[in-house]
Amino acid sequence: MTDITPLLAVAHARALEWLSRVEARSVGARATRQQLLDALGGALPGQGEDAAAVLEALCTGADPGLVATVGPRYFGFVTGGAVPVTVATEWLASAWDQNGALYVMSPAAAVVEDIVSAWVLDLLGLPASSSVGFVTGCHMANFTCLAAARHEVLRRHGWDVEVQGLQKAPPLTVVVGGEVHVSVTGALRMLGIGTGELKVAEADAQGRMRPEALAAQLAGIRGPVIVCAQAGNVNTGASDPMASIIQIAHAHGAWVHVDGAFGLWAAAVPELAPQVAGLYQADSWATDAHKWLNVPYDSGLAIVAHPAPHRAALSLRASYLQRGNDEERMGMDWVPESSRRARGFALYTLIRSLGRRGVADLIRRTCAHARDMATRLAAVPGLTILNDVVLNQVLVRCASTRPDWDDDEMTRRVMAWVQAEGTCWAGGAVWQGRQVMRISVSNWSTTGDDIARAADAITRAYRAQSGPIGSAAT
Ligand SMILES: *Cc1c(COP(=O)(O)O)cnc(C)c1O
Repeated sequence: MTDITPLLAVAHARALEWLSRVEARSVGARATRQQLLDALGGALPGQGEDAAAVLEALCTGADPGLVATVGPRYFGFVTGGAVPVTVATEWLASAWDQNGALYVMSPAAAVVEDIVSAWVLDLLGLPASSSVGFVTGCHMANFTCLAAARHEVLRRHGWDVEVQGLQKAPPLTVVVGGEVHVSVTGALRMLGIGTGELKVAEADAQGRMRPEALAAQLAGIRGPVIVCAQAGNVNTGASDPMASIIQIAHAHGAWVHVDGAFGLWAAAVPELAPQVAGLYQADSWATDAHKWLNVPYDSGLAIVAHPAPHRAALSLRASYLQRGNDEERMGMDWVPESSRRARGFALYTLIRSLGRRGVADLIRRTCAHARDMATRLAAVPGLTILNDVVLNQVLVRCASTRPDWDDDEMTRRVMAWVQAEGTCWAGGAVWQGRQVMRISVSNWSTTGDDIARAADAITRAYRAQSGPIGSAAT
């Protein structure tokens, strides 16, 4: 067997080197696809190579194609970094290589998942009796929760969807908000519910589902109903008015699922919690740990207030799948996977090392940075912030100063300049018909100085693109 010592020494040295440079390097990747292929590719080797040399070659070849998402000035999508203790934990988790499927495969992994479940429910103020599945991310958390929802609302109408299927089932009504995240509609598609079948309750200017619109969609509906609410719109950060939506939905016998990939964590901060007041009354909640909680990929949580339909929708039975007593966690009862990485370890060290206060501070601090960013950019003539900055998301619109570009084009050009310049990285989106630059502050390591530097870079980009025609950088 290969001695692992020199390999871990390479990994240790290269990881430290990456992490020590990540703050200073260009945030965006520096290599083209072809350059990466040239550096890393080639025909399938017939003869194996020395493992340490292969590791070194991977590090060298991949480096210019790595994106500093773990660094403090990556504001693209909604992207968390990785708190140091979670990176170290994942190294151990890889060395331990535990399977989270069955208790008997790793009692430690199962018990740690039980402990983390209780801590997460406590942090979020959700019912302590909820069941929690450790999934790859919020997309699969949405899938998992909606599978439980589908099972339960049909069961209440005398139908066992796991046995009888969906094709002849009582028609299912599924209501989503006008700004539903694609991963919810993607999850519903995999559950046999097409995008054309959805009822859409329109959203307000911040992307929040309007309760009157939900009431109108549900009027006269008698059969099984699922309502998909949202905590934290992916563009604005705004959350649906949970208490009224849940009340209206429950009056129609609906299951309320909440997509809260990042916004759910508002519940962990006393002064932000009112944004999601009433959240605990929903039936299921999907969230991410690899976004705002800053654990490495891949890590999401599927939380269901009703363990019975959660397990009924996902658990598998086979003679060789040794089930212990009821106290022993069967990880695979709660996720759409069998064998998987033991995802609980990194969450365990994160939550234990930060504590309730540290988690709240992480969320609170990034929100304050987002407000600071918005204030700095709003002070630049020609830049407008389109959203109320209630959480960590900022939408920037750039007014064109040139006859040949409209504001959409100007905003796209500024974004491209920012991405190429490398001080920070922000992506784009179309918000209510208008191109925006979207800034998400989700990284534990971002400081006030990073915000100042990033705001300066964005301002420089805008000034550069506002120059006379022909002088603009591209
Ligand atoms: C990111 C996100 C998702 C999907 O989460 P993944 O971790 O990418 O699977 C779902 N909903 C919202 C609101 C998100 O921001």
